[in-house]
Amino acid sequence: MIRVAIATLGCKTNSYESAAIAAGFDPALYELVDFEQEADIYVVNTCTVTGRTDFKSRNLIRKALWRKQSNPSIKVVVTGCYAQRHSDQIRELGDIDLIADNQAKQDIALLLARPDTDFTDITTARDFRYRPVSRMPGHSRAFQKIQDGCDRRCAYCAVPYARGPARSAAFAEVLDQARRFVAAGHREIVLGGVNLGLYRDGELGLAEVAGALQQLPGLELFRLSSMEPDCLSADLLDCLSDLDKFCPHFHIPLQSGSDSVLRRMGRPYDSADFRRLIASVLKAFPDAAIGLDVIAGFPGETEADFVPTLDLIKDLDIAYLHVFPFSRRPGTLAATMDKQLPRPVKEERVRLLTSLGAAKKERYRRRLLERAVPLRGICEKTVGGYSTFLSDHYIRGYSPEAARPGELCRLTPRVLYRDGLR
Ligand code: SF4
Repeated sequence: MIRVAIATLGCKTNSYESAAIAAGFDPALYELVDFEQEADIYVVNTCTVTGRTDFKSRNLIRKALWRKQSNPSIKVVVTGCYAQRHSDQIRELGDIDLIADNQAKQDIALLLARPDTDFTDITTARDFRYRPVSRMPGHSRAFQKIQDGCDRRCAYCAVPYARGPARSAAFAEVLDQARRFVAAGHREIVLGGVNLGLYRDGELGLAEVAGALQQLPGLELFRLSSMEPDCLSADLLDCLSDLDKFCPHFHIPLQSGSDSVLRRMGRPYDSADFRRLIASVLKAFPDAAIGLDVIAGFPGETEADFVPTLDLIKDLDIAYLHVFPFSRRPGTLAATMDKQLPRPVKEERVRLLTSLGAAKKERYRRRLLERAVPLRGICEKTVGGYSTFLSDHYIRGYSPEAARPGELCRLTPRVLYRDGLR
């Protein structure tokens, strides 16, 4: 058997695509092995969302190239967003057999036979490449990519240059993939994309996808991954609030609470809009788990800009924060802006936001406990006689009821544990 090892960095969309890459290798001829093990083909599915992920991508590529030094027959394949933007830098790292663009990456098994295939300029991509995946190895929940690319140009973001214009799977493909996941035993689906809220197939949008998943026999739960604020419409919230398989968990990029910073970021909302959005989410889902992305240290962000960010988040009833120090991405508008902030200032703002996020999480967990909010989730494993799962309210749960991995667990929390609720 030919051994294939795939390393994946970045988002859920990349994880889904790595599963599709794996599905392209005929199981009669190939076996999947861990990236730490000896393999005949190493695939690195890279990410370029920050300077740090570029660094990690190069390290994984070097690891594969190092193995090739002792066994020249090894094939090293690189794909993903860092490869899409910096294939020249990757070629300088060593003897790479194939660099596959983001549009063709799911056909790597075929492309290995013809490595001289053209490298697509992703800005010209128009179609959504659907390659069905049978299951998500090593995941109890299935990440399902239904959308790719983004037509926006937020000043700090390199993603559109790595993913191309927005494009969506056909509605029938979405249902086909969901049925395959359920047939393979997945009881929860996490819908994903580069800008998921832009999903569209003619008249059909996310609301119709959600309605179809609600009707899908065998599926217990589904949730949305990150949703841009302006894509969470009142109609969509209305539709979702009628669907009991939907997990009341919303991950929403705020990025800043300062209106002047939001304007310079090119974000299509201000702090007042954002407050209204969170209020409408909590009206539809009073105990919703709302998580926010926030960037600390955007160029020109003064102390007077930073305070409104802290104040806004303090005011909002959210469950957690993901905090990112501003990372200068080549080719983006923000990379050319003056008043780039020194690292210590960024680090201090990250520290303040991170501790605020921790306080918010603790407060949210206590609220779920005090209100005895029933939790559901797909069992991942059993620990000390407890079935553990990531609940529909994005809090880890430990249920005394025995459940096999992949089965639905239910829990009305009684006690607050260090890292979860029991
Ligand atoms: S919406 Fe903005 S932040 Fe999100 S992928 Fe598009 S450009 Fe990047």
